[in-house]
Amino acid sequence: MKVDLSVVVPVFNEEENLPELHRRLSQVLAGLVPSWEVLFVDDGSRDRSWEIIRQLAEQDPHVRGLRFSRNFGHQMAFAAGLDHARGEAVVIMDADLQDPPELIPQLLAKHREGFEVVYAVRTARHGESLFKKLTASLFYRLLVRITAVHIPLDTGDFRLMGRRAVEAFRRLPERHRFTRGLVAWLGFRQTGVPYERAPRYKGSTKYPLRKMVRFALDAITSFSHVPLQVATWLGFLVSAFAFVYILVVLALKFAGVSWPGYTSLMAAILFLGGVQLTMVGLLGEYVGRIYDEVKQRPLYLVAEVAGTLPEAGEFPAGHGQLEVHPS
Ligand code: UDP
Ligand code: MG
Repeated sequence: MKVDLSVVVPVFNEEENLPELHRRLSQVLAGLVPSWEVLFVDDGSRDRSWEIIRQLAEQDPHVRGLRFSRNFGHQMAFAAGLDHARGEAVVIMDADLQDPPELIPQLLAKHREGFEVVYAVRTARHGESLFKKLTASLFYRLLVRITAVHIPLDTGDFRLMGRRAVEAFRRLPERHRFTRGLVAWLGFRQTGVPYERAPRYKGSTKYPLRKMVRFALDAITSFSHVPLQVATWLGFLVSAFAFVYILVVLALKFAGVSWPGYTSLMAAILFLGGVQLTMVGLLGEYVGRIYDEVKQRPLYLVAEVAGTLPEAGEFPAGHGQLEVHPS
């Protein structure tokens, strides 16, 4: 059973936001399209989020839910949502109302003009720390410089994708996922719609520094080999410097000047040691990711569903596994 529009929402401990999100989404969608669904993907919440999703699904036939067997991460929740959404067009957005549902009509209008992907571009970010805004801004500007795929600036995951883009996205099998980059990689006609990012409605961020760093590393390693190539350039640079240095030392030696040389030796050893360890660590980041890919594990496991179950064979090759058995 197809619908006109699906809204996919990753949820991690968002109990306070779900009722308000549902209310605002319903208001916007009711007048917009004849048939729609809201698909909540509960990424292993430890609060009452799943209970609320189940209640919403009981009261409102538009609501469906998937519950992961544990916390697999925001990006995996997108993969699961896009695997199970039935819409001709699919919107993905956060649960904390930082992405206003009221923008969806504009996204859809652009899609109807013929754009396969319509992403929301933040012109301002309210209620976020200076540190977050600064690191995010630096990160996206660095990313654009070192990647070949054109990843639009100041764009989060809030976007609308047409069915063609969704089906193409579902064929990307990688485990370390940077959804914004992957969608940019798809190509087709893409465009942006500006909006102001609201502060979080309730609760606190689910992205501590640790997750932000991992996310940034996944983004860079998935789309760029530049960090690996840094080794080559550093190698050249250090070798050139060493060559000149050797010439100088030899000339001095022949001129009869020689000295114990402890300082220069230590400097060279420490510098080279630092460079080498850094590059070995970088190699490790890539090798570790290759290892994760080789293992070929499913991206996520679904433990429970709410609302109507997918019909048998409705979603063949997806990224994950449905570990539920309808009773
Ligand atoms: N989220 C998730 N899994 C996680 C962390 C976050 O599904 O492990 C969801 C979260 O519930 C929210 C969205 O991802 O809907 C964005 O998270 P958050 O608002 O905390 O990030 P921020 O806006 O602070 O960058
Ligand atoms: Mg947020």
